[in-house]
Amino acid sequence: MKRALITGITGQDGAYLSKFLLEKGYDVYGAFRRTADLNVNKLRFLGVEDRIHFVPLELLEYSNICKAIEKVRPEEIYNLAAQSFVSLSFEEPVFTSEVTAIGTLRVLEAIRAINSRIKFYQASSSEMFGKVQAKPQNEATSFYPRSPYAVSKLFGHWISVNYRESYGLFACSGILFNHESPLRGLEFVTRKITYSVARIKLGLQDELKLGQLDSKRDWGYAAEYVQAMWLMLQQEKPDDYVIATGETHSVREFVEAAFEQIGIKLEWSGKGVEEKGRDAKTGKTLVSIDPQYFRPAEVDLLMGDASKAKKALGWNPKTTFKDLVGIMVESDLKLVEREKKGKGL
Ligand code: NDP
Ligand code: GDP
Repeated sequence: MKRALITGITGQDGAYLSKFLLEKGYDVYGAFRRTADLNVNKLRFLGVEDRIHFVPLELLEYSNICKAIEKVRPEEIYNLAAQSFVSLSFEEPVFTSEVTAIGTLRVLEAIRAINSRIKFYQASSSEMFGKVQAKPQNEATSFYPRSPYAVSKLFGHWISVNYRESYGLFACSGILFNHESPLRGLEFVTRKITYSVARIKLGLQDELKLGQLDSKRDWGYAAEYVQAMWLMLQQEKPDDYVIATGETHSVREFVEAAFEQIGIKLEWSGKGVEEKGRDAKTGKTLVSIDPQYFRPAEVDLLMGDASKAKKALGWNPKTTFKDLVGIMVESDLKLVEREKKGKGL
């Protein structure tokens, strides 16, 4: 039985990757940071909570990382842990860099010190393309990060490449474009929208307040993206791959598609911070703009070209944009119904 250590086990991708690896017959060790309460909601949602061996691992603490690796003796490490929210990275840039950039280096150093044959996956991000220098973006596109988060991920990417080239580590960097699911954190725009739409439908909320509606993202389905992580580590040679759908949609389109799922057609009026999204039938305002969600620097458009992964890994995304929105709204409707009855997740 192969042993995998996943950092960030309590996050969206940690849950989907665990499920996928368990189905492949892996022994899965989930690394979590010690907090008052270990949150296993996402793992429970996928029904895998009881099959994970939990190991404490704090990315800020080198000795802690070493202890976890020495204890687990994994063949593969998937480094999914990060301070992953772009907006927060502007508020906490030093903390974000410590966790997301230097944290990656700590894991690589620990691998080098303990067993340099351990295969390493780094969760890199399309945010590294930032102010995009080409459209679509692929592995050869120049980076232009636009937030402390993106700069930190760029460090994580290059240090992984550097340890591969300098010390021969089997280190792969997966440049994943935004991927979403019912398990996406509520602070990210897609999940914020689908959860709010469900609450509006069930009479618990009047309005959804958003920031920049015209940002465009290449949104895929997280359950499919974790398969690419595993595929990268099964190749003969370590390499870096873009993982994306190749389609791009605006936040506005996402909002429209989500309301459509509950039978509401939105009509837009006004400009800038005065813009409103109204129910075309009743005229009721359902979406408005709150400048608190604007960012000091924005990433306007992301659209990935995953041809390399398709060819080399045989990876192909299947879930369409519309299906993804449908999956998320449907799941949030069930969740909110439970919450309404006081049952929670
Ligand atoms: P989440 O934000 O859902 O999960 C992040 C995980 O990191 C959580 O388990 C969190 O633990 C853990 N973590 C945070 N800080 C530390 C720390 N100091 N020490 C140890 N663990 C820590 O992210 P996703 O699952 O969505 O994404 C997985 C990875 O992929 C992240 O690195 C993200 O930046 C990257 N990525 C994600 C994309 C996406 O669209 N989802 C796109 C491209 C890259 P806790 O629960 O305690 O907070
Ligand atoms: P990101 O691509 O990692 O930054 O993912 P997010 O889901 O956080 O943001 C995607 C885009 O949605 C960005 O361009 C945001 O500025 C935009 N956006 C608009 N309104 C909101 C909001 O209320 N919350 C978040 N998180 N993003 C918003």
